[in-house]
Amino acid sequence: MRDLIIIKFGGSSITFKSESPPKINEDVIKNAVEDITSYKGNVLLVLGGGAHGHQAAYKYGYGNDTTPKKKLLQGIPEIRHNMSLLSSRVEHIFWEKHHKAVIINPFSFVLMKDGKISSFPMDIIRRALEADLIVITHGDVCFDESRGASILSGDVIITHLAKELGVSRVLLGTNVDGVFTEDPKVDPKAELITEITAQNRNTVLRAAKSSSGTDVTGGMSLKLQELLNLAEEGIEVVIFNLNASHRLEKVLKGENVPCTRFNL
Ligand code: ADP
Repeated sequence: MRDLIIIKFGGSSITFKSESPPKINEDVIKNAVEDITSYKGNVLLVLGGGAHGHQAAYKYGYGNDTTPKKKLLQGIPEIRHNMSLLSSRVEHIFWEKHHKAVIINPFSFVLMKDGKISSFPMDIIRRALEADLIVITHGDVCFDESRGASILSGDVIITHLAKELGVSRVLLGTNVDGVFTEDPKVDPKAELITEITAQNRNTVLRAAKSSSGTDVTGGMSLKLQELLNLAEEGIEVVIFNLNASHRLEKVLKGENVPCTRFNL
């Protein structure tokens, strides 16, 4: 594998989180896929669930500890269907740009226990990357040995894959410039935190709230905890605005753009 990088397309960027039925943000995806064209190494792309994952998950009681197993299990087809629609659309856009991308969906091979990954075989993803394919995976619903089914978030997938594959760079696109002192969608005076260090990490964690759209996986707060975990292992982590035109290309080239970098 050459210079393998993990890139996340945040669900809040590639879908309209408050639109029901879920709607895809085609422009953002086309822009971002074009930007990836400029990268010469291997790419592993993780899609967040956005409107497609979260709305159906919410409808069937995911994110609520008291939901009966039966109801969670009944939600599987709708969540899977929506995530297939979203990932297929992204795959199709790669095809339009003459890129060989394949979707590897977690539901088919990942098992969870108590909301955490219990089995995540890596062989297929490794082989696909070694074959120089762009791998698309995504937040998904998975069978859970204790709860029946659980949501596996894109951010948790990233942490797992980055460690397993020994990746040195992880870029997370979302719908704001990075981590702010307050939720910027709520407080216009919020300021961008350009660097998260050992000194400010706890203050930053306290500022991170859940997402402003429907989100059953914990929004910015859980995202940060996962990423701190990665950064502590020496992996370069950047959160940037995927909705800003061609921002991803600049981040890939290491240009100085508004974003949050982790330096622990
Ligand atoms: P994604 O779907 O892209 O993974 P989320 O919707 O889970 O992203 O999280 C991004 C959202 O988190 C932003 O749209 C913002 O409203 C919210 N948020 C809450 N607190 C913060 C914060 N301190 N800094 C940045 N965004 C925040």
